[in-house]
Amino acid sequence: GPSKPTKITSKAIAQDFLDSYDTFLFDCDGVLWLGKHLLPKIVETLDLLSSSGKKTYFVTNNSTKSRAAYSKKFASFGIMVDPEQIFTSGYASALHVRDVLKLVPGQDKIWVFGESGITEELKLMGYESLGCDDPRLDEPFDISESPFFTEPLDPAVKCVIAGLDTRVNYHRLAASLRYLQQPEVTFVATNIDSTFPNKGFILPGAGSTIESLACASGREPAACGKPNLNMLNAIVTAEHLERSKTCMVGDRLNTDIRFGVDGKLGGTLLVLTGIETEERATDATGDYALPKFFANKLGDLYELTQE
Ligand code: PLP
Ligand code: CA
Repeated sequence: GPSKPTKITSKAIAQDFLDSYDTFLFDCDGVLWLGKHLLPKIVETLDLLSSSGKKTYFVTNNSTKSRAAYSKKFASFGIMVDPEQIFTSGYASALHVRDVLKLVPGQDKIWVFGESGITEELKLMGYESLGCDDPRLDEPFDISESPFFTEPLDPAVKCVIAGLDTRVNYHRLAASLRYLQQPEVTFVATNIDSTFPNKGFILPGAGSTIESLACASGREPAACGKPNLNMLNAIVTAEHLERSKTCMVGDRLNTDIRFGVDGKLGGTLLVLTGIETEERATDATGDYALPKFFANKLGDLYELTQE
């Protein structure tokens, strides 16, 4: 079976790890930052990688922000990343609509249970979305008055995309369910993360509300974010990456590390600043993929190589 994960605890191991890859794919939340709090020595570590000629990409399951908005989030931390280096689960969902479902821009529409990170990416591909930006969904809900139940469904809607919507309410769920009850409407999810970390607490992830839509509709969505390999294939193809020289860095075993292992990347690094513990990272009896390397935090790569 796969060998035991190596903990990055010395300069020699850190250097060996860095020398093994020319490209690093970074999960964001739990690796680079926790919510609005940048983790220690992140800027220094990213600078070290770029000054060593490494290519870096950022792969997040956060569907609430577009790639352009994510680029601004990086800038707020003093990190310059262009939108082409960023891949979000909202963008992966838009790619699914275009390349797998082959919906027709300007003709087919998408119902969105989620935020602007989905609708902005759809708009860039020429798709109109419904639901997300409709303020009537935030009004007190009376089924006999709601336009979402008194008016006919829009027959142009061919797909429901569900992601995290921090404005979740019964009206949004009910209106989304009405589309999901149409068998010809496809059910797509941005990502299935049950939770995500913030500084000092864990929050409900997209998976938690998508489950309630799955429960009510009796349907299972196609989930587009990590660990779906269509997302990895899109990055590998667009950026001409060599898998054996690429390492996925993340804080969650069942999304990030699974993504790197199933995608046959040369390496995976789990950091312990987010969701997982050292116990889980080294437990070979678990039913999840284990990383090749793990570290207490990403910034250890910088700190250890300065010794
Ligand atoms: N989903 C949502 C809505 C989030 O806000 C976050 C993190 O902020 C995530 C998922 C996890 O993102 P990542 O894949 O960068 O850890
Ligand atoms: Ca994460």
